[in-house]
Amino acid sequence: MTMLEPLIFELSREGRTGVNGPKCNLSDKEIGDLLGSANLRSNLPLPEVSELDVMRHFTHLSHKNYGIDLGFYPLGSCTMKYNPRINERTAALPGFASLHPLQPVETVQGALELIVQLQDILATICGMDATTIQPSAGAHGELLSMMMIKAYHADRGETGRNEVVIPDSAHGTNPASAARCGFKVRSIPSDSKGCTDLSALKSALGPKTAALMLTNPNTVGLFEVDIVEICKMVHEAGGLVYCDGANMNAMLGLTRPGDMGFDVMHFNLHKTFSTPHGGGGPGCGAVSVKSCLEPYLPTPVVRLDGENGGYILDENRPQSIGRIHSFYGAFLIAVRAYTYIRTLGPEGLRSVGENAVINANYIRSRLSEYYDVAFGNQPCMHEVVISASKQKQQHGVRALDISKRLMDYGIHPPTNYFPLIVPEALMIEPTETEGKQTIDHFIDVMIKIAKEAEEDPELLLTAPHITPVSRLDETMAVKNLDLRYEAIFKDTHS
Ligand SMILES: *Cc1c(COP(=O)(O)O)cnc(C)c1O
Repeated sequence: MTMLEPLIFELSREGRTGVNGPKCNLSDKEIGDLLGSANLRSNLPLPEVSELDVMRHFTHLSHKNYGIDLGFYPLGSCTMKYNPRINERTAALPGFASLHPLQPVETVQGALELIVQLQDILATICGMDATTIQPSAGAHGELLSMMMIKAYHADRGETGRNEVVIPDSAHGTNPASAARCGFKVRSIPSDSKGCTDLSALKSALGPKTAALMLTNPNTVGLFEVDIVEICKMVHEAGGLVYCDGANMNAMLGLTRPGDMGFDVMHFNLHKTFSTPHGGGGPGCGAVSVKSCLEPYLPTPVVRLDGENGGYILDENRPQSIGRIHSFYGAFLIAVRAYTYIRTLGPEGLRSVGENAVINANYIRSRLSEYYDVAFGNQPCMHEVVISASKQKQQHGVRALDISKRLMDYGIHPPTNYFPLIVPEALMIEPTETEGKQTIDHFIDVMIKIAKEAEEDPELLLTAPHITPVSRLDETMAVKNLDLRYEAIFKDTHS
């Protein structure tokens, strides 16, 4: 049987219509005046199709998109966990969804209360004193944190502190955020165990140090065991310590960056707290700070006004770094995260942390016979970084080829070639929301691929075999989209 994928231009037949809109009662001249007559075309080659054809066209297109709702998505460091549907229900409640950002504050007291409660809960989760949910993304939270650290040192007359120390395993956004704020980035190496090299840190610290930016657990999926000592060293040098908390999943309910000595951190609500990643759209990189940075939080600050007993948007904050977002950030993302946290409660959050770590270690343990594990086979946190170096040396098969082959098995590839310090890196983060069957299936497929690499490397080098497009220019694919239509006939028997 041959099935025609309903590609809309090929289905077009002259005179066929879908929905007829009301007839326009303006004359051609009036329309020309409104839109500019040069914009009017009499012969616009749009497909002439039925409503059903249009429906099928877009539904087919949507099925070509891979998402967490379709299958396993072990994209390390991105925490692609299930987005519980109850979050969507609460975010869609008319009392939240229909709010207008310019409404008078007296009419949005419930929304402001939710923001304050969420901010307080996040501060408690990470052991800090105050939080803002304004930043739109993790990188935005990093930028805000660097701006506040700069203002903090300037207020103390320490304008010579213009260096930010960052380990070589850091996410690329870390040095970018520091540099964007005018800081000089000092990169330090990791030690042989994959953690911060204390002697390298020591020699990088000094009177020019503004801050250390550290990811914990770091991007090799390892907990920085010397974290208390590290924070102490930075503080003694007069700097502040920033935690890239994108990897908070591993610590939820188990330990708190504030207690380790960090002064400021960002959360990714679109990772740890189950709100959608939004394809570059709305996210939230909430930032929590210790009291020393609280005066610098961006305005407006939502707080309870002692005199009137209601919530206000406080703009009167002389030390604030100012605005970093229009209005008050992505409010409905906050509703989703709030729902997630309240549904789980403290016990539930703790089990998220525990299961995220157990799942990653299960994968590490079962795959270590077939793939090299970065920095020896020590316990990992929420993610495990394996390396395809062995496969590359022995069979000419790279991490990229393994990832492409995974697509043939319907699994989204893990993060490739990151962190930069691990050659042929495959960074796998299963998250706590996957069940054992899914994880076992993934492991079995990875083992199968390791065997394919030995027996038939060509199969991997030419993968994927089942996707509409296969090997694209990794850089240009997103910058130079090819959106041409081509009729595709699929033989569903073969
Ligand atoms: C995802 C991530 C970021 C950046 O977060 P965005 O929301 O993508 O800007 C920063 N650091 C780490 C470790 C991350 O995993």
